Amino acid sequence: LKYTVTRPGRTAGKRVGDNVTLRVAVLGAGIQGTCVAFALAARGHRVDLYDRNAACITQASAQNEGKIHLGYVYANDASRRTARLMARGALCFAPLLRGWLGAAFDKVPVSSPFCYAVNAASLLTVDEIAVHLDDCVRTAAACASPASAYFGRDFREPARRLDPAGWEATFSGENVRAVFQTNEIAIDPEALAAVIRERIAAVPEISLRLETVVQGVALERNRLTVAFESAGAAGRDTYDHVVNALWDGRLAIDASRGRRAPERPWIWRLRRNLRVETSRVGWAIPSTTNVLGPFGDVVNFGNGVFYLSWYPAGRVGVSRALVPSNWEPAGAATDPAATQAGIVEGLRAIMPEISALACDPGTRLRLTSGIVFAWGATDIDDRGSALHRRYQVGVHSDGNYHSIDTGKYCLAPLFATEVAARITAETAAL
Ligand SMILES: Cc1cc2nc3c(=O)[nH]c(=O)nc-3n(C[C@H](O)[C@H](O)[C@H](O)COP(=O)(O)OP(=O)(O)OC[C@H]3O[C@@H](n4cnc5c(N)ncnc54)[C@H](O)[C@@H]3O)c2cc1C
Repeated sequence: LKYTVTRPGRTAGKRVGDNVTLRVAVLGAGIQGTCVAFALAARGHRVDLYDRNAACITQASAQNEGKIHLGYVYANDASRRTARLMARGALCFAPLLRGWLGAAFDKVPVSSPFCYAVNAASLLTVDEIAVHLDDCVRTAAACASPASAYFGRDFREPARRLDPAGWEATFSGENVRAVFQTNEIAIDPEALAAVIRERIAAVPEISLRLETVVQGVALERNRLTVAFESAGAAGRDTYDHVVNALWDGRLAIDASRGRRAPERPWIWRLRRNLRVETSRVGWAIPSTTNVLGPFGDVVNFGNGVFYLSWYPAGRVGVSRALVPSNWEPAGAATDPAATQAGIVEGLRAIMPEISALACDPGTRLRLTSGIVFAWGATDIDDRGSALHRRYQVGVHSDGNYHSIDTGKYCLAPLFATEVAARITAETAAL
């Protein structure tokens, strides 16, 4: 993928023949920042990619479930706007990443397709979930373009409600009301992170500025200056454009640039989940999302790797500050052993074989920890919570300063191409 801006014009960037090369600072090297860097480099721009850590993709983008959402879990957004946005992101996720990463992308493990198990305490009825799943399939088909692809799976195929005789051996008949088989999958985020790290180091247009803490962004004579701290020394550098993809650091740097704190309420949640590696094969544990409410998921990546989440045990902190800190305990035990036991216990009540997996001598369990940002005042157990509606995310531009609320992992390539197109279009118009 290579694009160039061929319209000559005045720009603060360097002109090479008729092409304009801009210097862009991308703040944050999670899935969002790395995708923005790839999208800009593919258009011929020079990128400095900043992160406070020693490697790219170590935070939320490495610690998440990796589900490439087709909107199925957002059944409580009756407008279906969340489902539409998720489908737009999901259908370009693999094509864009394959363009940036090449054939290495196809070696990243993806999960078995998800079952949706309707919990006995679901906020919505089985019939309401069924209608929503059908709507999602129609929505995805309506969003699709000839370039759309979803990991070789048919995103137009309706979800199938399984006969109880087909699922009662796997799911608890006491806690589960119905099971739907879908074509939705997750990608292993740790494996994808490794492929991205290797590729990004080889792209000549991208310079990594790791172990560098971004402290602020200021506008000076139509150019943006990034202030940072690296190896104990303060530094500054000036750019044509700045893209803020800092996730948990984003609101603070937006404020340094002069943006007022958002008026709508937001919640940071600190979530712990379990990554499981087992040497024994043959576990009959399908990838499963329990709907709808504060339940959890099982992801089976098919290579002996599972990812387990149980929301009431894994949500260990909540913060409503500009920068999440001083986490208020969220009701769950924060002691790692108790969190681990709570996740296994919660899932075991839905899928009994989980306890055998967790206790097997060939199994290694590792707690992961990541921060989730979402707009809303109350948590997902509240049917009226804004956390059920996730469409108010994406790129916000103010001149040559762009701030991205990634929202979800699966949306990062979509938003990366949007911001790169904005930057390029603005250049072309100069
Ligand atoms: C437990 C969990 C499960 C999830 N499951 C899913 C899922 O299944 N599907 C899905 O689509 N989404 C999921 N998400 C959401 C998804 O992980 C996030 O939306 C996404 O990873 C955010 O990407 P990002 O690049 O914006 O943030 P990050 O990956 O956090 O990257 C931001 C980077 O900015 C750096 N940084 C921050 N502040 C500074 C600073 N001041 N100076 C320098 N560097 C800084 C950080 O070190 C970090 O590397 C989940 C999230 C969690 C936590």
